[in-house]
Amino acid sequence: MADTRLVVAGASGRMGQTLIRLIAETPGVVLSGAIERPGAPAVGQDSGKVAGLEPNGVLITDDPLSLLTAAEGIIDFTAPSATVELAALAAQMRIVHVIGTTGLSKEDFARLKAASRHAVIVQSGNMSLGVNLLAAVVKRVARSLDEDFDIEILEMHHNRKVDAPSGTALLLGQAAADGRGIDLDGHSDRVRDGHTGAREKGHIGFATLRGGTVVGEHTVIFASEGERIEFAHKAESRVIFAKGALKAAIWGFGRKPGYYSMADVLGLAE
Ligand code: NAP
Repeated sequence: MADTRLVVAGASGRMGQTLIRLIAETPGVVLSGAIERPGAPAVGQDSGKVAGLEPNGVLITDDPLSLLTAAEGIIDFTAPSATVELAALAAQMRIVHVIGTTGLSKEDFARLKAASRHAVIVQSGNMSLGVNLLAAVVKRVARSLDEDFDIEILEMHHNRKVDAPSGTALLLGQAAADGRGIDLDGHSDRVRDGHTGAREKGHIGFATLRGGTVVGEHTVIFASEGERIEFAHKAESRVIFAKGALKAAIWGFGRKPGYYSMADVLGLAE
């Protein structure tokens, strides 16, 4: 059987490079294209070399259209505007689009959902097995604990991260909200500053730390009078996200168009 052809978007980024290295060592898949932002310095360079490998002959381009016609899937850790455009192209080509990009707005999600009528979209704020298991646990615990337990989500990431709270913090917040049967948007405290007044009962709070080279750390705290339960996940390497994304791409082949999550890929969806 021929190798499955995959395109990596954001090829010279932190996740893009990690994916290129992982694809190179994974049997059954092959890097058929590498995309960067128009005008990016990496355009025209060998994607293997950019990722710290031997040259692989796949030059980085800023023209996704021609690459996607000759691919079975695209793995995309870029920026929201790029992701929305790539989803429309993936729909046109009826291929798999794995989306790790975070910071997506409501409008972005609506456009991705529209694209999933024709593309197989797998989107997650965190592609790792550990965080998706953690989300399943948080949902279960939130279902059992009432509003006497305040839920707070603390995250820390490297100093280059541009969006907050992280996609993972929001994913965990959504899991807690689902477990409690509430709407996250109407029950979130995403920023606290100045004289905020007392904590609103039933809300889910978010706190953000940024610094150094931290790959990603998340703690979900259930705090009540006299006791506190904490669940934490610490990512030590970006490879866990790349492995999840590659697994999602392979899982998506041959599936009918739709909008899927890592919980679907990992068999954790209820
Ligand atoms: P990064 O190092 O900044 O990489 C992003 C890359 O995408 C950059 O090379 C950027 O180029 C490129 N890009 C921007 N616009 C593009 C376009 N129109 N077409 C093609 N490429 C484009 O960031 P990162 O750490 O790899 O993270 C990327 C995204 O994935 C972020 O949203 C991050 O939060 C998310 N993430 C998600 C997970 C998960 O498991 N879901 C895990 C890790 C990271 P320029 O620098 O030239 O703009």
